[in-house]
Amino acid sequence: MVRLFLEPKQFSGESATTLTPDQLHYLRKVLRFRPGDFCVVLDGLGKAWRGVFDGERLALEALQESPGYELPISVKLACAVPKGERWEWLLQKAVELGATEIVPLQTERSVVKPQVEKLTRWQAILREAAEQCERAILPQVLAPMTLADFLAQGVMGKGLICTARGERPSLLSQRTTEPLTVLSGPEGGFSATEIAQAQVAGFQCVSLGQRILRAETAPLVALSWIGAWFEGDGWV
Ligand code: SAM
Repeated sequence: MVRLFLEPKQFSGESATTLTPDQLHYLRKVLRFRPGDFCVVLDGLGKAWRGVFDGERLALEALQESPGYELPISVKLACAVPKGERWEWLLQKAVELGATEIVPLQTERSVVKPQVEKLTRWQAILREAAEQCERAILPQVLAPMTLADFLAQGVMGKGLICTARGERPSLLSQRTTEPLTVLSGPEGGFSATEIAQAQVAGFQCVSLGQRILRAETAPLVALSWIGAWFEGDGWV
C-alpha cells in the first residue's frame, strides 16, 4: 500500500488533501494512479486516513488498519556525522529502527562539519524511509549543532551517552519508559572532556559491547537494542 506523509497545509480539515505537483506526478505517472485508486495518507503526528484519488486530490476516509508502527517511547538520536555517504545511510536506517528525532552533531574530533544547507535533503530521506517502513510518525532531523550547544539545552527524560571504552553498564540494561536521548560519537570518539560535560548535563555512559563499533554502526546498534527492550510487549 502506498503511503504519503503530507504537510499540515495540504489538509482541508479531515476530508481532503491537496497534492503538490511532485506528488501528483508521482501518483499519476510513476504509480499510474487512476481516479478511485487509494493510498494511506499520514499527517506525520500519528493520524492516518485512506486517501481516495479523484484525479487531482485525495478524499479522506477512516482507515481500518493501524496507522503505522512506533516504539512505545520517543527516541532522540544525537550523533556525530560520519564521513561520506555513511551519514545519509545512517539517517535512513535510524528511521527504520524507530528514531523520532535526529540531531547532527559537530564534536571536538568530528571529521565532518555538517552543513545546514543539506537539511531539506536529509528530511526527504527521513520521509521516504518513514513511508517505506510504515512509521506512523514522521521523524524530524534538526539543524546541525555543536555538542556544547546540544548539551546546553538540557536533557528531557533519560540521557545515555555511548562510550567505546571504560566501565559502563550495557545499554541493554537501561530500559526506560521515559523519552530517551542517545548520544553517539565521531570516528575518533568523544574526548574525555566531552564525556564529562555530558555527564554533568545528565547523560549516563553506556556500553554497546566490547568491540569498537564504527561511528555509523554504534547509533544503529543502540537503536536496535532499544527496540529489543520492548520485544514481547506486544508492540511488534
Ligand atoms: N577510538 C574511538 C574511542 O576510543 O572512543 C572509537 C570511536 S567509535 C569508532 C565511534 C563512536 O561509536 C564512539 O564515540 C561511541 O559513541 C560509539 N561506540 C563505538 N563502539 C562502542 C561500544 N562498544 N560501546 C559504546 N559506544 C560505542
